[in-house]
Amino acid sequence: LVADTIAAISTAPGRGAIAVVRLSGPKSVEIVDGLFEGKEKLSASRSHSVRHGRLKDRAGSVIDEVLVTVMRAPDTYTGEDVVEISCHGGEVVSRLVLEATLESGCRLAEAGEFTKRAFLNDRMDLAQAEAVAELVAAKTRRAARQAFLRLEGALSEQIHNVRAEIVEVLSELEARIDFPEDVPDKLEIRFLIERLERCSSSLAGLVSDSASAALLEVGARIPIIGRPNVGKSSLLNAIVGRSRAIVTSKPGTTRDSIEQGIDVEGFPVVLVDTAGLRSATEEIEEEGVRRSREQVKLADLVVFVVDASGDEFGGDVGILRTLGERPCTVVINKIDIADAARARRALSSLVAADGRALLELSAKEGTGVDKLRSHIAARLGSGEFDLRDVASAGKRHLDCLRSSREGIDEARLALEEGGFVELVAFELREAVEALDSVTGQRVGPDILESIFSRFCVGK
Ligand code: GDP
Repeated sequence: LVADTIAAISTAPGRGAIAVVRLSGPKSVEIVDGLFEGKEKLSASRSHSVRHGRLKDRAGSVIDEVLVTVMRAPDTYTGEDVVEISCHGGEVVSRLVLEATLESGCRLAEAGEFTKRAFLNDRMDLAQAEAVAELVAAKTRRAARQAFLRLEGALSEQIHNVRAEIVEVLSELEARIDFPEDVPDKLEIRFLIERLERCSSSLAGLVSDSASAALLEVGARIPIIGRPNVGKSSLLNAIVGRSRAIVTSKPGTTRDSIEQGIDVEGFPVVLVDTAGLRSATEEIEEEGVRRSREQVKLADLVVFVVDASGDEFGGDVGILRTLGERPCTVVINKIDIADAARARRALSSLVAADGRALLELSAKEGTGVDKLRSHIAARLGSGEFDLRDVASAGKRHLDCLRSSREGIDEARLALEEGGFVELVAFELREAVEALDSVTGQRVGPDILESIFSRFCVGK
């Protein structure tokens, strides 16, 4: 089976100093050679070397001055021949370069196809391939670090160790099935149980690491912003108070802000309280606006709080304007002491114009807080955001790790209770399979499809 040669622009769209067009497949070098004019043919260049020259289109007119990196199989990202053309940035040049390669016999790469090939050619396992997507999507240093460790194979290695242990236990048991007269004695069983206990607790550690990592690092970032004393902290507490799973909280990236990782109807969310701005002097209010802006830049969804009992809403309107295009839900708070109508009127043009949602509630009494939670979950699930996809690698791993652990615990229980060896072995086989689906040794084409389609083109 000979693969197509694929090509895509691998750098982000928009203006930039340089852009990279990447090719992968058996004809990569030949195709670029046909367009490249330099001192030396690319086909004559050493692997992993960079050549300077000019790139022409099929008709022979020069597109740009370029640097071409030739990397030959198998020691490349995809495991195939890879050529990277660095050209000048901007939308036009890179597009022309891409078009020239397509006219010369490349096919446009599908989303995630480079990484998919890397996986199919055993350059990385599935957990590592998913880490690539997370690394690129990471919004915090910690998120990037975690994804990088996963890319380097940290998770894969731990899973590999647990798997090896289970497989050993399994093979001892299977020997008994084949030679039933060889019944294991009490001491042996005790020993097997201990090994399974170790596996189970290793997995428990991995599960809790992954759970808080997924929530805190890839959860949807939702800063709660608004003027001082509108009830931001109260609202955060009200939302958190109704969440069963509070994973963890930590000091935020800005001084005086708090980040709370919670589960909102199945969606990992990081609520950010831009706290510490209690008094309403003008200076502090300005500082509040500045900090809110920082948070807004990182936000997936902004919850903007307005105090229904306020005298006037000019300041609120001002902040709301600064949000620009950010997805935003406007919350009118304190409806227990004031009618929301005045605030609604003051904000209505801004809210309606940008298709923002507007909800009314009382953080103090809890009225309407559940509605806000469902609203957040509905928005996160609507496809308006791609974070469901980003978080789903974490979720996929969690589901697999949990189900593996369940299998091990069932097996251990069966052993303790003197159950059939066949039953124990069955549970352990299931546990191994669950682990294999994290690393991709046992996933079907549909799962691969759904994982790689979340990548963008060029990855
Ligand atoms: P922040 O500065 O925006 O974080 O506001 P806080 O959460 O600290 O709340 C400021 C004040 O408003 C406090 O005295 C809260 O008790 C009060 N408050 C917050 N939410 C409500 C509400 O829904 N109803 C009423 N009556 N008071 C509220």
